Amino acid sequence: MKIVSACLAGVNCRYDGKSNTIDYVVDLVKSQDAIPVCPEQMGGLTTPREQAEIVDGRVCTITGKDVTDLFERGAYEGLNIATLAGCREAILKSRSPSCGYGKIYNGTYSGEMTEGNGLFAKLLSENGIDIITEEDL
Ligand code: SF4
Repeated sequence: MKIVSACLAGVNCRYDGKSNTIDYVVDLVKSQDAIPVCPEQMGGLTTPREQAEIVDGRVCTITGKDVTDLFERGAYEGLNIATLAGCREAILKSRSPSCGYGKIYNGTYSGEMTEGNGLFAKLLSENGIDIITEEDL
């Protein structure tokens, strides 16, 4: 069983109310080989919501609101689901401040990247779950 970013499975949970549908991930969910989660929604954030990026370890929206606590809450809820379902692997959305793995947006809202992990990806990795992003498929 895999845990996957819900936006990759066609759920319209992105900050702008859209998805990042990848047919392979949709098929994994349909065949009951993957569970979709959106840690930002589970943290209590609305959809649509303000765009957010990580700056100096804190998650801040484009208007400067610190939403780190909500992102952390959602990351832990996502980990709870992954643990309950016995997931050992994850397919996550690249570059996101929650789901990004290896590289994320650098906090300038310019589209530029920096090395690092989103809060959900970091938590899954720390708990022994192997992560790839949709760019690795
Ligand atoms: Fe997709 Fe993850 Fe962002 Fe939710 S938090 S919209 S699952 S990238």
